Amino acid sequence: MIRSINTLLVPIPTIREHKLACTVMREQVLVLVHIQTEDGYEGWGEATTIGGLSYAEESPHSIKTNIDTYFTPLLLKEQPASTAKAMQLLSLHINGNRFAKCAIETALLDIEGKRLNLPVSELIGGRVRDRIEVAWTLASGDTATDISEAKQMVEQKKHRIFKLKIGSNPILDDVAHVLAIKKALPDCRITVDVNQAWTELDAMQGIGLLQAGGVDLIEQPISMRNQAGLKRLKERFDVAIMADEIVHDPQNAFQLAANHCADVFAVKINQAGGLKAACLIGQMAHLAGIELYGGTMLEGPIGTAASAHVFSTYPSLNFDTELFGPLLLTDDVLAQPLDYQTFGLTVPTGAGLGIEVDKDKVYHYAEQGGVILPKLSESKKYPAET
Ligand SMILES: [Mg+2]
Repeated sequence: MIRSINTLLVPIPTIREHKLACTVMREQVLVLVHIQTEDGYEGWGEATTIGGLSYAEESPHSIKTNIDTYFTPLLLKEQPASTAKAMQLLSLHINGNRFAKCAIETALLDIEGKRLNLPVSELIGGRVRDRIEVAWTLASGDTATDISEAKQMVEQKKHRIFKLKIGSNPILDDVAHVLAIKKALPDCRITVDVNQAWTELDAMQGIGLLQAGGVDLIEQPISMRNQAGLKRLKERFDVAIMADEIVHDPQNAFQLAANHCADVFAVKINQAGGLKAACLIGQMAHLAGIELYGGTMLEGPIGTAASAHVFSTYPSLNFDTELFGPLLLTDDVLAQPLDYQTFGLTVPTGAGLGIEVDKDKVYHYAEQGGVILPKLSESKKYPAET
C-alpha cells in the first residue's frame, strides 16, 4: 500500500553558467518524488526539466502541481498492486505529462527493486554493461575557457568526449568556436548540439562546415517540428545526425525509426515518459539500425542513476552518454555520490536504484523554496515552424 507521495522542488546552483541556445542556466530545479509504503519501503524518482519552460513543455512547477493534484490522489485511491499496473492506470486517466509519469515509475521501481533485492536494471530487461562512458558539455560561452576546461577534464581522466552547445550566435562564429576546440583537442570526440536553433538552410551551411572540420556528431540542428527536414539533412551529409527534442514517447519514436529520420537517437527517460518507455525506444531504434545515445535533462543523481539503469540494458550504445547532470551541480543530494571515474559512470549495483538519498538535505533545499527562473531577456524563442 502506498502511504504517501511527496513532490519536492529542489533548486541547486550550477558550478558555472550553462549556456544553451534557448536559455542560460545558473541553477537547476530538481523535481523529486518521494514515495513511502505502509510496510516501510521508500522510493525516489525525478522529473527534472531544463530552464523553466524554455526547453520543454512541462515546467518544474507544472510537474509538481499535476502530480499533487492528479497523480497522487489517483494512486492513493486505487492503490495499484505493481509498478506496471500503476503505469497502466496513469496512462488510462492522465494524458501527456511524461516527466511526471517518469518520476512516479522510477520511485515505484526503486521500491519494487528494494522489495525483490534486485537493481532496477534487472526489472526492465537486464543490464548488459556495468559502466557507461559520459561526455561533458562545454557551455561557458567562451572558446578559451572551454578549451582549458576540456583539457583539465582529459588530464583528470574525467571526460574525453565533449559536446558543444551552439546556435545562439551567428553560424560562422559558432563554427569558428567549434573548430578551434576540435583543433585544440584532436584526440577527443567533439559533438555539437544546436538545440533546434537553425533553419534548414542555416543547417546546410553550418553542417557542411562542421563536417569538413571533422566534427563527429550533429544534434537536433533544426526545429523538432521539421521531421522531413531532419531526414533530408541526414541523407545529405555523411556526419552523423542525431534526433533529440524530436524524440518523445515510443509512438513518435516508432514513426521516426520507421522513416529513418536520423542516424542516432538521443533517448531521455523523462522525454520518453518513463524507464520502460525509454527501453522500448532503445529497442525500436536498434531494430531499425539507428544508433543510440544516452541523453539527459540535466537531472540530478536520482534521475541520472535511473537513466544509467536504462542505458545499461541497451544492446548497443555506440555514441555513449551525457549523464553528467550531477557534476554540473554545486551540491549532491546523495549520502554517497555516484561513482564517476576513468571517463565514465559505474551503474549502481544495489537494490532498486542502488542509491541512498540524503533526505535531510533534500527537504532542507526544498524548504528554501526560492526558485530563480531564467530572465526573460536571456530566453530565446525557438525558430518558427519551418
Ligand atoms: Mg540536446
